[in-house]
Amino acid sequence: MKDSYSLGTRLILGFLIVAGAFSLTTTIFLEYTANRQFHEYMEKVRQKKHQEILRYFEQVYAKEDTLKSSSGTEIAEQAMRDGNVVTLLDENGTLLWEVEREMVALHYQMMGHPSGLYEEKEYPLRINGSQVGTVRIGNFTGIILSPEDMAFRNSLRRGILLASLFGILIAFCLSILLSRKLVAPIKKMKRFADQLRQGDLRARLTEKSGTREMDSLAEGLNYLAKSLEDQEELRKELTRDISHELRTPLNTLNALIEAYIDGVMAPTAEHLEECREEILRMADLTRDLERLSDLEGGILRLSPEELNLGNLVSGIARSFEPLCAQKEIALDFSLEEDLLIQADRDKLRQVILNLLSNAVQYTPSEGSIGIRGTRCGTSICLAISDSGVGIGEKDLPRIFERFYRIDKSRSRHSGGAGIGLAIVDRIVRASGWKIYVTSRPGEGSIFTVEFPQEP
Ligand code: ADP
Repeated sequence: MKDSYSLGTRLILGFLIVAGAFSLTTTIFLEYTANRQFHEYMEKVRQKKHQEILRYFEQVYAKEDTLKSSSGTEIAEQAMRDGNVVTLLDENGTLLWEVEREMVALHYQMMGHPSGLYEEKEYPLRINGSQVGTVRIGNFTGIILSPEDMAFRNSLRRGILLASLFGILIAFCLSILLSRKLVAPIKKMKRFADQLRQGDLRARLTEKSGTREMDSLAEGLNYLAKSLEDQEELRKELTRDISHELRTPLNTLNALIEAYIDGVMAPTAEHLEECREEILRMADLTRDLERLSDLEGGILRLSPEELNLGNLVSGIARSFEPLCAQKEIALDFSLEEDLLIQADRDKLRQVILNLLSNAVQYTPSEGSIGIRGTRCGTSICLAISDSGVGIGEKDLPRIFERFYRIDKSRSRHSGGAGIGLAIVDRIVRASGWKIYVTSRPGEGSIFTVEFPQEP
C-alpha cells in the first residue's frame, strides 16, 4: 500500500472532501425543506378538499331537506381520486353512505404510492345551527401527487443534484489550480535542497512566491545555504591554514635535525630552544583545536556558581603582568566591589584569558590595556580595552567565526589560529551572556561582556 502521497494529491483530496461534505449537507437540507414544504402544501390541499365535501353535503341538504344513502353518489369518484375516504352519518350516527377505504387504498397502490398511515377527521354537518349529520373524512398520510407536482418535485431534485455535481466539479478544478500554486514553491525548494545536497552551495532561492510563510522559509533556506557556504569556505581555509601552520614548524624542525645528523650544525642549547618553540607552537594549535571541538560538539555542560568577578579578573590579570612588562604595555584595572555573578568558573576564566591574551597580542609596545568591571543597568559589565591595532569595520562581524583571522601572516607569527574568539563566543552564548566589540583601526578595541542579572 502506498504510504505517502504528494502534497498536491492531498490538497485536491482535501478540497474534494470539503466540497463533497458541503454538497451532501446542502442536498440533505434542501431535500428536507422541500419535503416539508410539500407536506404543508398537501395538508392545505387536503383541508380545502374536506371543506368542499362539507359544502357539497350542505348544498344537498339545503336542496333535499334530508340526507339519504344516495346523497354522496355524485362526489364518490372525485373523492376516491383525491384519496378521501368519506363516510356520511345521519343525526343519530347511523351510516348513510360511504366511499370504501379498501377502494381508496387500491387507488393509492395503482398510482404507485405507498399508502402509509391512515388518519381520520370528523366534521359535524350543521344547518342553521343544528346538527343534521356527521361527515367523517379519512386519508392515507402518504402523499398523492399530481403528475405536475411529481414533475416539479423531480426537476427540483435534479436541480439540486446537478448543482451539487457542478459544485464538486468547480471545487475539483479550483483545487487543481490552487494546489499547483501552493505546491510550486515547495517543489522549487525541494530542487534547491537537492542542489545543496549535490554540493552547489552557491545556489539561492531568488523568486518570491507571494505567500508569506513560503517566503520566510525560502529566506531561512537561503540563510542556511549561505552559512553552509561560509562553513565550507572556512573548512577549506582551516585545512589550508592547519597544513600551512604545521608545514612551517615541521620543515624548520626537519632542517635543523638533518643539520645535526649531518654534523653541519651542533645541537647547542640555543638551537634546541628553537626546536622547542616550534614544537610548542604546534602543541598550542592542537590544544586550541581540541578545546573548540569540545565546545562545539554536543551540549556545553556548565556548572554555575556564585563568583566575585573582581577577584577572578584581577587574579588572571596579574598573571599577564610579566608579559605586559616585557612588551612595556601599561595594564590598568578598575573593578567595582562585590560584582557577584553566577558563572561556570573555568569557562569564565577561559573567556577572560582569551580576551586579555588577544589584547596583549594585538597591542604594540608602549601601548595600554584597561580592564573595567562595572554595574551597567540591571547587568554587570566587564570591558577589556586596548590601544592596539584595532579591527576594521568589514572584519568586525566575522571575528567570532572559527578560524577567522584578519591578518593571516601576522596572526601566524603571533601563534593565533583564529580560534580564541570562537571559543569566547560559544561560551558567552551558552551562558546567556552578551558580548559587544567597538574598535577603530589604529586606535584600539573594546570587548565588553555583559552578564545579565536576575531582577
Ligand atoms: P587568534 O588566535 O588569531 O588571535 P581570535 O579568534 O582570538 O584568533 O581572533 C580572531 C581575529 O580577531 C584575530 O586574528 C585578530 O586579527 C582579531 N582580533 C582579536 N582580538 C583583537 C584585538 N584586541 N585587537 C585587534 N584585533 C583583534
